Amino acid sequence: MDLKITRKVIFKRCMDSLCPNCGQAKIAKSLIAILVKCPHCGMLIKRSNGFFFGPICINYGIVAFVLICPTLILGFSEVIHINLALSLTFIMSFTFPILFYSASWSLWLLIYYLCLPKELYNNRAEGSDDLLFDEDERL
Ligand SMILES: [Zn+2]
Repeated sequence: MDLKITRKVIFKRCMDSLCPNCGQAKIAKSLIAILVKCPHCGMLIKRSNGFFFGPICINYGIVAFVLICPTLILGFSEVIHINLALSLTFIMSFTFPILFYSASWSLWLLIYYLCLPKELYNNRAEGSDDLLFDEDERL
């Protein structure tokens, strides 16, 4: 079955922090507020309980392994002063997760819908029960 919304389109929409289904609305109200549903097409962005673990893992992974660890390595290897390294890691550990929150949601939606493009509302088969992995809808 051909996809109405291709992986290339999904990639572009998610990189622009837009709804991967319609591409007409942002997925975030503000820096730290992610919409539950797309205001344009109604697709669930926060799909079910536990769906938020994806963005948290991405956020944590980037903060820990891209920012904190390299800074500490620079500090302990005396490339930069250890007090500076510790100060930077302390500040980054609080600020970056907030600054990167909506971007981590976009990355999570990108990964999710690149792996499962048929989960997008516009890619579902005709006559689909519209439930698929929407666990909240099943209850
Ligand atoms: Zn939408």
